[in-house]
Amino acid sequence: MQQIETYKQEIEQLPVTDAKSLEDYRIKFLGTKGIVKALMGEMKNVPNDQKKVFGQVMNEFKQFTEAKYEQWRENTADGPSAAAVGMDISLPGDPLPLGSRHPVSLMRNKMIEIFSRLGFAVADGPEIEDDFHNFTALNLPEHHPARDMQDTFYVQQNPDWLLRTHTSNVQIREMQKGKLPLRIVMPGRVYRNETISARSHCFFHQIEGLYLDENVSFADLKQTLYFFVQEMYGKNIKVRFRPSYFPFTEPSAEMDIECQICHGKGCSICKRTGWLEILGCGMVHPNVLTNCGIDPNKYTGFAFGMGIERPTLLKYGINDIRLFSENDVRFLRQFTSAV
Ligand SMILES: [Zn+2]
Repeated sequence: MQQIETYKQEIEQLPVTDAKSLEDYRIKFLGTKGIVKALMGEMKNVPNDQKKVFGQVMNEFKQFTEAKYEQWRENTADGPSAAAVGMDISLPGDPLPLGSRHPVSLMRNKMIEIFSRLGFAVADGPEIEDDFHNFTALNLPEHHPARDMQDTFYVQQNPDWLLRTHTSNVQIREMQKGKLPLRIVMPGRVYRNETISARSHCFFHQIEGLYLDENVSFADLKQTLYFFVQEMYGKNIKVRFRPSYFPFTEPSAEMDIECQICHGKGCSICKRTGWLEILGCGMVHPNVLTNCGIDPNKYTGFAFGMGIERPTLLKYGINDIRLFSENDVRFLRQFTSAV
């Protein structure tokens, strides 16, 4: 028993730090010719009246040696220590290949970031929508001719379900919650039944904005959008508002910026006009507010919406919208360091 105490002290001081010293320990104490086995063999020489006490001490020692082995085995599981194989861990590591964000994501994040500085929060909603949230609530009742401009895809199982044609369904859903004021932007994917070409696709991305409160005016709309284009395209950017028509806003306008390619002289990108249309906007139509249970005599608001693909094409000089969804890594890798 004296001997067992001595072994215990010896084990406590063992420098087991790698696979080799661990194996040495295992052979010496736990192997078939090891110390634990040998001590067990001594049992027959112990006087009968002491067998019980010795047996207990022996068992504890066996458990102790095994527990130590397990503990060291876990600690040295990764193989020999760095120092043992002469490795310098202060050297720089192997470089990890850097991934790249999709150019549409880069543009969307930039847009969200600008509006978030004006206090706009991000709202999200479903891409499969019912007719009410995509059309009817937006002052586009059934048989309204403006529905023709936004033909989409329908779900066979339920003719009331469709793929949303704009992210305006999120505006409706947020307004229906009835928590005012609202100051939100809604980025997301939308769908149109259109022929796929270099300039248009059957799905693309939009970001819309909505500001709804008491006494919101067209001046607020203009100032918000001025701020946006200045942050996006530079302080000296020239803009113009053109009167337009949307069923869900009144009055409505389209906002153009001076063509960034020809600086107003006229080129093929701007169709010789010197201007590029970037977004549609207007004051939320009273019918839309009423459809969402909001009193149009108390609340007013503005809304705007723009595509994300088109400004992305312009910013990075890409000439085909189909490249965005072809998953060609040779295209995507070019944006590794883009911001
Ligand atoms: Zn131009």
